[in-house]
Amino acid sequence: MFAKRISKSQFMMGRQCLKRLWLYNYRRDLKPPVSPVQQQVFDQGHAIGALAREYFTGGVLVDADFKHIPAALKHTAELVAGEAKVIFEGAFISSNVLVRCDILKRNSDGSWDLIEAKGSTAVKDEHLQDVAVQRYVLAGAGLKINKTFLMHIDGSFVKSGPIDAKKFFALGDITKETAAIAAEIGQDLERFMEALGSVEAPETGIGQHCSDPYDCEFRGHCWKGIPPHSIYDIPRLSWEKKNTLKAMGILLFRNVPDSFDLSDGQKLALKVEKTGETLLNKKEIAKFVKKIKYPLYHIDFETIMPGLPLYDGSRPYQQVPFQVSLHVQAGPGAEPCHFEYLGDGKTDPRPGLIGFLLANIGPEGTLLAYNASFEAKRIEELARDFPASGGALSALIGRFEDLMQPFLERAYVHPACHGRFSLKKILPALIPDMTYEGLPVANGGDAQLAYFNILSGKLPPDEAEQLRKDLKVYCGQDTLAMVKILEHLIGIV
Ligand code: SF4
Repeated sequence: MFAKRISKSQFMMGRQCLKRLWLYNYRRDLKPPVSPVQQQVFDQGHAIGALAREYFTGGVLVDADFKHIPAALKHTAELVAGEAKVIFEGAFISSNVLVRCDILKRNSDGSWDLIEAKGSTAVKDEHLQDVAVQRYVLAGAGLKINKTFLMHIDGSFVKSGPIDAKKFFALGDITKETAAIAAEIGQDLERFMEALGSVEAPETGIGQHCSDPYDCEFRGHCWKGIPPHSIYDIPRLSWEKKNTLKAMGILLFRNVPDSFDLSDGQKLALKVEKTGETLLNKKEIAKFVKKIKYPLYHIDFETIMPGLPLYDGSRPYQQVPFQVSLHVQAGPGAEPCHFEYLGDGKTDPRPGLIGFLLANIGPEGTLLAYNASFEAKRIEELARDFPASGGALSALIGRFEDLMQPFLERAYVHPACHGRFSLKKILPALIPDMTYEGLPVANGGDAQLAYFNILSGKLPPDEAEQLRKDLKVYCGQDTLAMVKILEHLIGIV
C-alpha cells in the first residue's frame, strides 16, 4: 500500500470525497484563500474549543502547533508516560494518520477516555467518523481507550453571567457507535492511500457531497464547467432528481423535459425559463395587495448568530437582531419615511431595538417583510427574552405579511430570476436601477461579519464608523427595495 501521512482532517476529506483528499494533497493551489467569513467561523470554533478545556481541571495543553509536529509528539509521549491526568491537543501517529485529540482523560486503571469537542448542538454522523478515526489511531499508538464522548453545546443553555463550561456543554457517550464503525476505518485508509498513490485525481463527479457534510474548498475548480441557470439552480429540487437529470445528460434548466417530475411551482418556473416570457397571475397578486393595510411598515432585521452567546438571556446560535430598517408609508404610493436602528457595538443591541420598534410602529397597519417568518420569529424571541415588553411585541406578530409570497407561490415568475425568488434575485429583475452589486455590505453574511468586527473593538474608529455607514446603506436598501417591489406589484394590478 502506498504510504503518505495524512491528518484527521484529511481523513474526513477522504470520507466526503476522494477527489477532495487528492486535490488537497497535490493541488492546494486550486484552493481559494480563506474568506473573512470563514475565518470568523474558525475563530469562533477555536473560542469554543478553548472553553471546552475549562470543563476539565488540571489538564496539560500540548501547545506545539501543526508546524511543530515532532515537538507535539514528543511532548504528548512524555505526558502519557508521566502522570498527566488530562491531556489537551495530544498528538499521535499510527497507520500514517496524525491526530490531535481535543481531550484525553486518564482513568485509574490506566485506560483513557477520549473526548472530542464540537461547536454543534447535537451529535452528527460525521462526528462519529471523526472520533472513530482518533480511536483507531490511539489504539494503534498503544493507548487503551475505554470510552469515547462527543462534547457538544447544550442547545438549551441560556447565558447568565460568565459562561460556565460545565453548564454550556453536554457530553454524549458515543463509545458503542464509534466501536461499531471501527472496522471501516482500516478499509477507508486503504482506499485513501490508493487514491493518493495515483498521479491522476480520482474521477469523482460533482454532487451533494460537495457541500455535505462540509462545504468543499474545491468547488470553484470542480464546478467551473457548470453553466449559469443549470439544473443545480432549480430551487427545492432534490439531489436525487438533479442526479437523474445529470444522468440523462441534461445540465441546463431550460432543457429539462416538460414530462419530468417537478412540483407545480418548478413547472411554472420551467415554462418561463423555456419561453422567456413573464408569467403573471394578476388575480393572485391582487389578492396579496388587498391584504396590505396602511400605514405600512416595511421592515428588515440584520442578525448575528454567535455560538458563544454574548448577552445575558441569549442562547447558543440564537439569531440576535442588532439592526433594523423601517420604511413607513401612510398610504398606497405615499412617499416612505425611513427610520433605522443599529446597536452601538458595545452593549446588548436588543433593548434599544425593542424601544425603537415600539416607538416607531403604530397600533395599526401591516408589517411587511421579505421572508416574513424570519422577522416574526425574531420578534417572538424578543418577546420571550424581554417579558416586560412581551405583550406589545407579541401583538406585532399577527400583523406580518410576506412580500415573498407572490413570488414563492409563482403568481409572478420573471425570466431574469431563473426560478429563484430571493430578494437579491427579484429586485434587479423588477427594478433594474436598484442592485446590491458594488455595495461594501451586500448580503446578510457581510452584515454579520461587519457587526462582529465592530464588536471586536479592534477596529480604528474611522473604520468602525465606515462599517456602520455600510450597514445602514445595506439594511436601508432592503426595505427600500420592498417599497419599490410593492409599488411594482400595485402597478400591475
Ligand atoms: S467540489 Fe465536489 S467533486 Fe470536487 S473535490 Fe470537492 S467534493 Fe469532490
